[in-house]
Amino acid sequence: MNQLLFATNNLYKLKEVKEILKDKFEILSLNDIGYFEDLTEDGDTLEENALQKARFIYQKYGIDCFSEDTGLEVEVLKNEPGVYSARFAGPQKSDNDNIQLLLTKLNNQSNRNARFRTVLVLILNKKEYLFEGIIHGEIANEKKGVSGFGYDPIFIPCNHEQSFGELSIEIKNKISHRSIAIKKLMDFLKPL
Ligand code: IMP
Repeated sequence: MNQLLFATNNLYKLKEVKEILKDKFEILSLNDIGYFEDLTEDGDTLEENALQKARFIYQKYGIDCFSEDTGLEVEVLKNEPGVYSARFAGPQKSDNDNIQLLLTKLNNQSNRNARFRTVLVLILNKKEYLFEGIIHGEIANEKKGVSGFGYDPIFIPCNHEQSFGELSIEIKNKISHRSIAIKKLMDFLKPL
């Protein structure tokens, strides 16, 4: 089976992507190639961050790889927290603090429309390719469920009653922003 390196420090993302691609690619992690540091992501957009992570690993190891960056974009907050989703409530990057801050900002707010947006960057034979995945939904009034990570317990995808925190990883992987971007990646790689 073909191997593909996923340049991420996030074990939840790694698990999701391995599951989505399990029949098509053997996904290597940064640990598999002996890289154990944090990857810098200090750009102003998801695109910049995804490019920064993939370029760093490609330049260091010369291995084809892909990386992604994801943000939660809330309509009434003019698409915040967006690229700052991880540090929304401060540099401690606490999922719970981020969720509580978002719920406070949306207190008594009837427009709870939001979307997750993933930008995935593949570097293959020195060329860069970008793929995007978006899922629309709503921010719940409170945390629901313990599955997944990040903002999953307060994100209810369109046409669903339950949050990503309540839905199984299998269902999340069928519909999520990340899986949409990964499917575009697979369609691109298929004919190669
Ligand atoms: P990053 O892409 O690792 O920089 O993540 C940015 C922020 O969005 C972090 O707070 C993550 O926990 C959160 N995040 C990224 N992907 C997801 C997801 O699939 N569900 C919920 N939160 C996510």
